[in-house]
Amino acid sequence: MPKDSKKKKYSQKYKKEWEAEKAFKEWLTSVPGQNSLAFCKCCKSELKAHKKDLESHANTQKHLKKMAELGSVAQTTQITQFVRQTIDDRRKIAELKVAAFIAEHCSVATVDHLGELIKSLDGKSETLKELKLHRTKCMSLIVNVISPCLLQDLMDDVGDSYY
Ligand SMILES: [Zn+2]
Repeated sequence: MPKDSKKKKYSQKYKKEWEAEKAFKEWLTSVPGQNSLAFCKCCKSELKAHKKDLESHANTQKHLKKMAELGSVAQTTQITQFVRQTIDDRRKIAELKVAAFIAEHCSVATVDHLGELIKSLDGKSETLKELKLHRTKCMSLIVNVISPCLLQDLMDDVGDSYY
């Protein structure tokens, strides 16, 4: 028994379960192969795998500042990415529709004029304002995006009967 209690008193071992604790969960991680150490992902610094040390690290000005910075950065990127993506997606869909129309009904040469016309239809529309369609891009959409899709449709239609 004394042996055990002695061991317990002096052991400095990283415990995986600490990561689940509220005070640590956002930043604590282990150092592979070094269970006497812990790592703060936020400050990018090595710490002793001592619960008391970790608790005091969590309350240092440096750590709290880093956490606040990381938190706000992560939040803003997420929001801007989200907004960007929806505009981008709507714009891409619009561009594809125009390109598909061109491929089916007109000559690619008309796309320069059509692109300008579409943009002028609604000056307030974020999607139309961002629309970029000129001959080269339209061609590449037709060749790289629309044709492979049409080809895939065709292949699906033909199916096994081809063989
Ligand atoms: Zn830290």
